[in-house]
Amino acid sequence: MIIDREKIKSLAAAQSSNGGYYMSAFVSTSSLENWRKNTPTFLNSAFTEMMKERDFSHEEKRSLEGDLERIRGVLSYDITPQTEGLAVFADQAGGVFERIELPVRFEDRLVVGKSPYLRPLLCVLSLFEPFVVAQVSKDDSHLYLVDELRVVRSEDFTGPYLKSSNQETGEVPVKEYYAANRQESLIDQHHKEVAAAIDKMIEELGIHWVVLNGNHDIVSGFRRALSQRVAARVVGEFPLDATASIKQTISRAREAMKAGRAHGRQALAERIRESLGAGGRGVAGFSDTAGALFRGQVQRLLVDQEYRPSGFRCVECDFVSLTQSDPCPVCGGGMLPVEDAAGEAMRVAVRQGTYVEIGEDIPALKELGEIAGLLRYG
Ligand SMILES: [Zn+2]
Repeated sequence: MIIDREKIKSLAAAQSSNGGYYMSAFVSTSSLENWRKNTPTFLNSAFTEMMKERDFSHEEKRSLEGDLERIRGVLSYDITPQTEGLAVFADQAGGVFERIELPVRFEDRLVVGKSPYLRPLLCVLSLFEPFVVAQVSKDDSHLYLVDELRVVRSEDFTGPYLKSSNQETGEVPVKEYYAANRQESLIDQHHKEVAAAIDKMIEELGIHWVVLNGNHDIVSGFRRALSQRVAARVVGEFPLDATASIKQTISRAREAMKAGRAHGRQALAERIRESLGAGGRGVAGFSDTAGALFRGQVQRLLVDQEYRPSGFRCVECDFVSLTQSDPCPVCGGGMLPVEDAAGEAMRVAVRQGTYVEIGEDIPALKELGEIAGLLRYG
């Protein structure tokens, strides 16, 4: 996988030490743009602007200048040609310098805060989630593990039915003739083997989504062989096209995945809307959702892509609020302004292992106040 989710989780938990700050930079390094000239210009002017707007001490400013210098250094010398977007998280005082290079572009941004700003990375993650494509037939099936860009692993399965005839002569030995009469159970046996392999793959690699590909009747039969866990992760199905190359198949699978996930997010918003109120599992609006998140109660967090209210966060305890109250109402710590309070909530969610969903054009989510959560059971 190009994006290391564990790394993002550890970044989400990071706090700058010694009263310092994290600098998070996102820049496009696509060869389509004149980034070698534009990006340093962007960084310099964003930095100057930030120093004017916020009240940093002389020492803080010096430390941030050091971070910026190091980020510029990466841009001058050190970018691989496939990289289209670069994310850097720097905290000189804490000795941290993390870079993530991606094959997709970022909108240029420079953010300074007590923790790394992760929202742009989470948006990329939500567009390029890894998934498994299961191409199934009666006796010849294939699994493909697809990451942000390509197939990273494939497994082939041949069922006992196909094995039972001599492929060169077409003759079927007597013993296998009887086997062929048991075709249905042989297909079942093959499907069970493939289904078990999917279960193992998602368990081992932490994959969340599965797309099925094949003749619809066969796929329907195959679904019966799936474990409950795998069945819950199937987000789409598309028909077999025997003439398609693997590349074409994967591209169609990606489309099916995208449509299935968009539908899933919409269903999540509707489910939250129907379970609001006392005793229900839904929570909506910034203050209630952030409160539930702070108490570790949220299982899935859903945020509208466009929702970026400014707000405040506690430097001690992660409490996030849209309104200023200094000190923190929870722990009495100091409150700092943040330019994207929803982004802060997303960071807290990632740190807790809560699944973050980014919604786009979902009417039910707009009604919920653009941020909502599905709570864990009891
Ligand atoms: Zn606090």
